[in-house]
Amino acid sequence: MLNPGTQQQIPVTLIPGDGIGPEIVDVVERVFDALGNPFAWDKQQAGLNAFEKSGDLLPETTLSSIRQTGLALKGPLTTPIGGGFRSVNVRLRETFQLYANVRPARTIVPGGRYEKIDLVMVRENLEGLYVGHEHYVPIGDDAHAVAMATGINTRAGSRRIAKFAFDYAVRNNRKKVTIVHKANVLKALTGLFLETAKQVGLNYADQIEFNDRIVDACAMQLVLNPWQFDVLVSTNLFGDILSDQIAGLVGGLGMAPGANIGEGAAIFEAVHGSAPDIAGQGLANPTALLLAAALMAEHKGLHKVARDLRDAIDATVATVDGRTADIGGKVSTSKYGDLLIERIRDKK
Ligand code: NAD
Repeated sequence: MLNPGTQQQIPVTLIPGDGIGPEIVDVVERVFDALGNPFAWDKQQAGLNAFEKSGDLLPETTLSSIRQTGLALKGPLTTPIGGGFRSVNVRLRETFQLYANVRPARTIVPGGRYEKIDLVMVRENLEGLYVGHEHYVPIGDDAHAVAMATGINTRAGSRRIAKFAFDYAVRNNRKKVTIVHKANVLKALTGLFLETAKQVGLNYADQIEFNDRIVDACAMQLVLNPWQFDVLVSTNLFGDILSDQIAGLVGGLGMAPGANIGEGAAIFEAVHGSAPDIAGQGLANPTALLLAAALMAEHKGLHKVARDLRDAIDATVATVDGRTADIGGKVSTSKYGDLLIERIRDKK
């Protein structure tokens, strides 16, 4: 627990988001109050809620808050389909040059399909096929006869993310980094990434083992024998797909946190989206966002806060009575928050 009065609160931009966002953010706020609240939340809007109020999915006031705090915890944001809207998540990553997406996954709920999973996916967050260079080529009266997309990987971007992954491995006492690619087919686009990441790996050879896997074989190996992996690093699209797969190994999207890290800012979030199918029904699992907040605490050196929060989560979901519906239990979003708070207070 923090010792009130001896620690200054750290300013954080808090974005409730939409869909299930506000209900899971409410649990995060209540649980952090019980932990002694090391963060001073600056609540800002983005996504559909912001659009309804200001006509902008990502208002300037929200951007300016993140510029000042350099730190944000973000609930999920719905991207309206069609209408020319660009994903707010992608815009945030680009605006703050959040080049590294870190998605750790570890087994918390016992008795699932896989025990003792402890993996970290490091995904390049700004390049690849997500640069959004897409267009159609019309043929005859079909305006959309051909669709084209351009992927862009740079040597500098590949070096930066590979270095991040190896440094992360060293800092977190990890043993191995696996470079994931498709260099047998996309010889330039992911060949450059593979070649550069291997060169970076050689600089860490006395500390960290490294190997590489073709993305399709890697996906199969993650199902057959996930324990052979430790830290994985990949380009934007492959990293996106594999991190959802890895989340599936530990109980699904409700359990998977993510961090977007840049030189001057870091934004923490759940891997999942706004889940409109269950919004407002008390069914959402806030664990992924709580674990994202634990990553944020660690990022700021608040290791005890992160440990206390993870201990409370582990102990609560250890029995079925402490689980939300997505992981086989019956407790509501808010009741789950109450159970965590009871545990945190009991430990004080
Ligand atoms: P989703 O992640 O919102 O939902 C997928 C499935 O998982 C749904 O059945 C949902 O009910 C369930 N689920 C997700 N989170 C859960 C939780 N915490 N507890 C219990 N069940 C949970 O994906 P989607 O339906 O494809 O996307 C919905 C919207 O979210 C889209 O507009 C998409 O663009 C957006 N999205 C946002 C982010 C983000 O803000 N980082 C990420 C992904 C998707």
